[in-house]
Amino acid sequence: AGGNRLEVFSDDMRVAVRQRITAESRLRQALAGRREATLPVWFQPIVSPATGRIVGAEALVRMWTTEGELLAPGHFIAAAEETGLVVPLGEHVLAQALRHLGRWRHELGYVSVNVSPRQLAEPGFVPMLARVLAAGALDDPARLVLEITETALLADSGDLQDRLHAIKALGVRIALDDFGTGYSSLTWLQSVPADIVKLDRSFVAGLAHDPRKASIISAVLWLARSLGLSVVAEGVEDIADWDALRTADCPAIQGYYFSRPVTPGDFEAMLAERGAAA
Ligand code: C2E
Ligand code: CA
Ligand code: CA
Repeated sequence: AGGNRLEVFSDDMRVAVRQRITAESRLRQALAGRREATLPVWFQPIVSPATGRIVGAEALVRMWTTEGELLAPGHFIAAAEETGLVVPLGEHVLAQALRHLGRWRHELGYVSVNVSPRQLAEPGFVPMLARVLAAGALDDPARLVLEITETALLADSGDLQDRLHAIKALGVRIALDDFGTGYSSLTWLQSVPADIVKLDRSFVAGLAHDPRKASIISAVLWLARSLGLSVVAEGVEDIADWDALRTADCPAIQGYYFSRPVTPGDFEAMLAERGAAA
């Protein structure tokens, strides 16, 4: 019986290893191609529930495989992290996000870009950021937000704080992503020079029917306000949650209820209708 268990386990491992290798080779291929086409960057609106206007957008990468399949990041970000390919991938996403923001500068407040722990730990990250900002035509660096997660602490070689302050010194804003899901959210909140807290969807979805979630959210909103931070509630999927967050004066929300992540073309059409200048 012991032998059986081992057999099942090693099959699972073999499958996992094969998937990792497939993800890695697909990613290498995509990075070697015309990246704008093979690794499209989509956008999900971030909206003010008070006004119904789009205030910002999160850039979310996708990947076309040579078999013509469009993959969500869940299929390749882990492999990108492990291999270090997340470094060129991240630079591509950042450049695309800034390029689009440049075109949408009159209708869109800011663009938010995910930065993985591995990217942040790379010594070249801050110089790369400075270079990209200098090359671009961004009128105000605060219109770029970098989303980081608490897992960055795990990859921290000891100078994470310095690096975060260097990012702030460039005028770029920092958001704490998936807030509340880590092991030391309050420590994280205390130690990181953040501007925005992104409340994880596990606290948000269904809050209208769950008094405990609603209490946690009002407490985080209060805490963020007293620390001078803004809040984005993620994963708002229905009108009941939207209404509850509006009533609680949550500054911004993101989720399928308003819109899923969409192509730049579709996002542009949405901006024309619901953007700041509309
Ligand atoms: P995340 O940063 O937490 O991004 C939000 C994810 O939640 C997105 O999934 C989005 O499509 C999904 N989402 C948005 N609204 C809702 C909702 O109402 N309900 C539900 N159930 N889900 C919602 P996506 O695009 O598949 O991305 C997954 C993760 O991959 C992201 O999670 C982020 O951690 C990572 N990722 C995406 N793009 C990049 C990137 O360019 N660089 C890095 N390093 N990571 C990325
Ligand atoms: Ca994010
Ligand atoms: Ca998130």
